[in-house]
Amino acid sequence: MWIDANVTPKTLLEERRQTPVIGEYEVVVLGGGPAGIAAAIAAGRAGRSTVLIERYGFLGGAGTAAGLSTFCGLHAHVAGEHRQVVHGICDDILARIERMGGLNAPHLSVQNRIMAQAYDISAYKIAADELILAAKVKLLFHAFAVAAIMRSKKETEAIVVETKSGRGAILGRTFIDCSGDGDLAAWAGAPYELGDGKGNFLYPSTMYRISGVDPQKAGRAWELIPKLMEEAEKKGRRFPRKKPIVRPQKHPTEWRANLTQIRNPDGTAVSGIDAEQLAYGEVEGRRQCWDSFEFIKSVTPGFEHAYIVEIAPQLGIRETRRVRGEYMVSEEDILGCADFPDAIGVQGWPVEAHVSGDVNFVFARKERGFNQLPYRMIVPLVVDNLLVAGRCASMTHEGQSSARVSGPCFVMGQAAGTAADLAIKAGVAPRAVEVKSLQRRLEADGVFLGTDGSSPEVPARRGSRSEVV
Ligand SMILES: Cc1cc2nc3c(=O)[nH]c(=O)nc-3n(C[C@H](O)[C@H](O)[C@H](O)COP(=O)(O)OP(=O)(O)OC[C@H]3O[C@@H](n4cnc5c(N)ncnc54)[C@H](O)[C@@H]3O)c2cc1C
Repeated sequence: MWIDANVTPKTLLEERRQTPVIGEYEVVVLGGGPAGIAAAIAAGRAGRSTVLIERYGFLGGAGTAAGLSTFCGLHAHVAGEHRQVVHGICDDILARIERMGGLNAPHLSVQNRIMAQAYDISAYKIAADELILAAKVKLLFHAFAVAAIMRSKKETEAIVVETKSGRGAILGRTFIDCSGDGDLAAWAGAPYELGDGKGNFLYPSTMYRISGVDPQKAGRAWELIPKLMEEAEKKGRRFPRKKPIVRPQKHPTEWRANLTQIRNPDGTAVSGIDAEQLAYGEVEGRRQCWDSFEFIKSVTPGFEHAYIVEIAPQLGIRETRRVRGEYMVSEEDILGCADFPDAIGVQGWPVEAHVSGDVNFVFARKERGFNQLPYRMIVPLVVDNLLVAGRCASMTHEGQSSARVSGPCFVMGQAAGTAADLAIKAGVAPRAVEVKSLQRRLEADGVFLGTDGSSPEVPARRGSRSEVV
């Protein structure tokens, strides 16, 4: 038997217990994806005692655990020119990965209309470790957060984690939820929305990487493979979704495949916050990986000796809870290249809606090609000493279909870590942080705010000023 949301479950009473306090920090960050990495580095560099709690033994979030191996959302198509628009801590991460020989030059992606940048997953993990440690952040790996202890309805006192050394509580002054799923915000009582409001999330995918490709023979097979799949479909072969993405990565013999779509037997998207669906989804994801790989190998020149080098350790979840904040970024904000007085950075990724059997892309209507992201999107309602950054921040279902990718997650994370510092310094709740001070600090730390409506002067990397190399 498993937990069924529609049935009152049989319950057992656990014994009351004293939970040891295993740490006390000024800033507690939950989740080590792009948002959490940037948040922890920003808070640590500001001199705040900071802990980063992560359930796995490595950083990167979906970027490593779900096998993405490509940064999206760092660039925008600005008045006919492709420019990197996400800067700051993100630049330090790119520079470290590049120094390890793990970064490709940006490539044209999505209908050749926007840039993305491939990276080596192992190099990203190590680069993130190094930057986090250089910022003097305490790393707590293999710690699964399971609950919040509240001081009052509006204030979190501690986060409870389960580890191999047992259960423990971590006290904090300001908490930053970068769990992707809004776990902490939900436990703390912040309101949130789920999916499209009709019971469906963006569909998840299991990613895999193919190695042993002959790059000369394969050529531009990323253009051929979708055509071969389309032709096969006309003859009755079935694939989980249209618009497959199979591309070479940092090493030309290695390609990544993003083409699965994981549905429940009733056709709805597998939920990333439902244990039983997750278990089903992992198995179904691997089945789809093998099925699509066998097809690609059998029909694609250059793939004759190819093999799956890795199926991502975790099913890739695109959307679960979106925590309601003081402002919700909408599809119109993305497509209309919105400006906000409380901008914390920008992003230019199109709306990328993973719907049943397909992926729908919609690009910004305006020449500028990017929208600002407001501070209010990371300030949740109700809970005062909490910020929420990353894919679970305050966005509508459609807005999140764009601003959930790595670039905007770095932006939100850096702003959250910096705002946590300013809030503690001023002795106020994050929602009362003086926005101008936050913006000045972010700009001083290399972030492009897009406040003058222009594109950044330096198209390539410029590096944040505070990296400790
Ligand atoms: C299949 C797929 C393909 C994608 N492709 C791309 C792409 O090519 N490029 C791109 O830029 N973006 C891509 N994305 C989007 C990508 O997910 C986001 O960009 C990004 O990873 C979200 O960042 P985040 O920091 O908000 O959360 P995540 O990356 O999800 O990180 C959250 C972290 O929190 C940890 N965590 C969660 N709950 C707990 C808990 N209770 N206790 C302890 N730790 C916890 C997780 O282990 C994880 O490390 C893709 C997403 C999917 C699913």
